[in-house]
Amino acid sequence: MIPPVIPFGEIKPALARDEALAEANRCLACYDAPCTRACPTHIDVPSFIKKIATDNLRGSARAILSANILGASCARVCPTEVLCEGACVLNDLHHKPIKIGQLQRHATDWLLDKRAPLFTAGAKTTDKQVAIIGAGPSGLACAAELARLGIKAVIFDANARPGGLNTYGCAEYKISAPFALREVEWLEQSGVTIKSGVTIGKDLSIPDLERDYAAIFIGVGMGRIARLGIPGEGLAGVWDALDLIAAIKMDRDKAKVGERVVVLGGGNTAIDAVTQSAMLGAREVTLVYRRGPEEMSAYHHEQELGRQAGCRFVFLAAPKSISSDSAGKVASITLATMKLGDAGADGRRSPVPNGGELTIPCDTVVMATGQDARKPFVSSLPGVNSDAKGRVIVDDSWRTSNPRYWAAGDCVSGGEEVVNAVADGKQAARSIAKSFGVAVSHGTGAAGAVTEAQEVTRG
Ligand code: SF4
Repeated sequence: MIPPVIPFGEIKPALARDEALAEANRCLACYDAPCTRACPTHIDVPSFIKKIATDNLRGSARAILSANILGASCARVCPTEVLCEGACVLNDLHHKPIKIGQLQRHATDWLLDKRAPLFTAGAKTTDKQVAIIGAGPSGLACAAELARLGIKAVIFDANARPGGLNTYGCAEYKISAPFALREVEWLEQSGVTIKSGVTIGKDLSIPDLERDYAAIFIGVGMGRIARLGIPGEGLAGVWDALDLIAAIKMDRDKAKVGERVVVLGGGNTAIDAVTQSAMLGAREVTLVYRRGPEEMSAYHHEQELGRQAGCRFVFLAAPKSISSDSAGKVASITLATMKLGDAGADGRRSPVPNGGELTIPCDTVVMATGQDARKPFVSSLPGVNSDAKGRVIVDDSWRTSNPRYWAAGDCVSGGEEVVNAVADGKQAARSIAKSFGVAVSHGTGAAGAVTEAQEVTRG
């Protein structure tokens, strides 16, 4: 049984100054720190933590943001339990790992609260300009790195507000939409230009884009939750999990679930839907997954979050149909019970129906069964190839089959963490710069440093 309404709010609250100092002083400042190696953007973790320990929050924020320009949002949405904190040596010493994510938030929140830029755009290095399609994490990281390299870039985004998943798609209890937008505002102060509400191919044609920009970066992420093709999928009371999360974040009055919610899926988005449904006041929430518990792609700590919210898990069951009452609203969902069959090419045993059936009374169904790739859009881009799953194909420099186009983020990976999109968008920017003949000398890998000349003078 789900407890009554859980108030919305961040599940990892900010550290107070004395808590941050105490936590920072626990860090062993390891040589060749495993936490840094575990971070896709290779933030110098011991360095930024040491600066917090000496009360140098500006220096700490600089260490973080010069490696990961979206370090403030990543401090909130990163699965630190399996990345930096999972790699912390203190785990091996049977101590709690350093709260790296919360320390990162402590430093970056301090900076964003100042509402002042830390960096400015670099001196102009080329007349060539770059168009970036999508103002999500990969597009923002790409634009910021191009600005640092002295290359003018414009981000075009179809949504009314920028930020992509951070603004619309990450559970509100991890990152609030106002915070995501505040981070984007800070980026704009640092030289990133964004045009929101512009759909490429509609408001701005692809030939026009190719005429005005020497290179084009595709950072459009993934599309909607894939349809299952079962009866009742279009009934009132059936939500696309991403639409539900977006409504909670941007239009709370529209975000309504009933008292008995069934969530379909086994990934982190399914857990987000479970937890958010509980927060919206559902009395019963059931997660239905067609495979077994060990095959859920949701992280263990996310699954635990679902359990803490009182969720009931039903494994080895696949949706068959959704039924309605006389008013046309969802009344129940019928599931085909499954057993595990032979292992497929990926080594996972596939679920197959065992002939049984199960019906769960409910008034809301939330689909979190995986997103479709943006196939129609990608196929409209001349010469840009995608694979069988619709993911954009790139080489090791993030360049597509059309040499004027680059791509990174979820539209290439099929769905990874925000921090992966940031790391890859930054690398794509460096690849674009090299193709323009612009030197990309300082810094290596994803952690390219920012020169002092580009850091705004301490105020
Ligand atoms: Fe500090 Fe842990 Fe990283 Fe070592 S591994 S530097 S103790 S956070």
